Amino acid sequence: MSAHLIDGKAFAARLREKVAASVAILKAEQGIVPGLAAVLVGNDPASAVYVRNKGVQTVAAGMATFEHKLPAQTAEVELLALIAQLNADPAVHGILVQLPLPPHIDADAVINAINPAKDVDGFHVTNVGLLATGQRSMIPCTPLGCLMLPREHFGNLAGRKAVVVGRSNIVGKPMAQLLLRESCTVTIAHSRTENLAAICRQADILVAAVGRAEMITGDFIKPGAVVIDVGINQIEWEDRVRLVGDVQRDSAAGIAGALTPVPGGVGPMTIACLLANTLTACCRISGLEDPEGLAA
Ligand code: NDP
Repeated sequence: MSAHLIDGKAFAARLREKVAASVAILKAEQGIVPGLAAVLVGNDPASAVYVRNKGVQTVAAGMATFEHKLPAQTAEVELLALIAQLNADPAVHGILVQLPLPPHIDADAVINAINPAKDVDGFHVTNVGLLATGQRSMIPCTPLGCLMLPREHFGNLAGRKAVVVGRSNIVGKPMAQLLLRESCTVTIAHSRTENLAAICRQADILVAAVGRAEMITGDFIKPGAVVIDVGINQIEWEDRVRLVGDVQRDSAAGIAGALTPVPGGVGPMTIACLLANTLTACCRISGLEDPEGLAA
């Protein structure tokens, strides 16, 4: 048996088209242009690439983009002043602060200063609490994208056993909350979990969000399971740097029913979901219904 490779790139392209179509209708019917502000502090090259890509995709979807690049030595109080300005700006419907921030800035204080209605990353404690209590919230982009993939594969997820490996605030915990909301039976595993492989082998849906190259091998996988590989790890391979996931693709593919590749699986979904969240935030702020099929 060889697993079906879930094409996140194609799925994300369809999602971006849907967003662009809804943005065009919003402009034509309401005269509203959704706007996303991206804040980058410092010179981390990977972060700069992410922010640039997000800007390009935002414009391609017909939305406005506002980039704020601040020097690494920016004081926390200056960053908080910028957030207050963006909160008050009616042209800005989504605010994302690219993480990590320099160590002298309290990232929690900055994230929690964002108006929760504009918190398109879904990291503000208000959105975390709303999600945990089953209320309408902004949902973190990576877990939102991850959820769409098994949903498409299985349809209804109710009653499925799900194991999420990783308990970060950005991926693991919100992923588990979303799967619980879908009525899956959810286990969260982490670095202190015992018998990890045996626990993972119970999963109909296995989400790997660990950050350890190819740690999840075929022995961790139940035959026919859907495996969502969130990991992005750089490894040296034949004198080159190569990107691999947390799942060892060759051994997993012989056992899983479906598998997301790295690259080309979860990664493209994250930006597409950021665009979807910006549109959703814009609709909510403008007193309109959520765009169909984009909010979880
Ligand atoms: P974190 O480092 O914040 O969390 C990693 C989690 O994995 C922790 O909960 C940790 O457990 C757990 N873990 C570490 N080692 C083991 C182990 N040996 N066995 C079981 N669990 C373990 O990472 P993130 O959640 O931010 O990211 C995870 C991966 O996803 C990374 O590779 C990251 O690059 C990628 N990522 C990809 C995105 C995308 O768009 N595709 C977006 C965001 C992240 P403990 O809590 O006990 O330490």
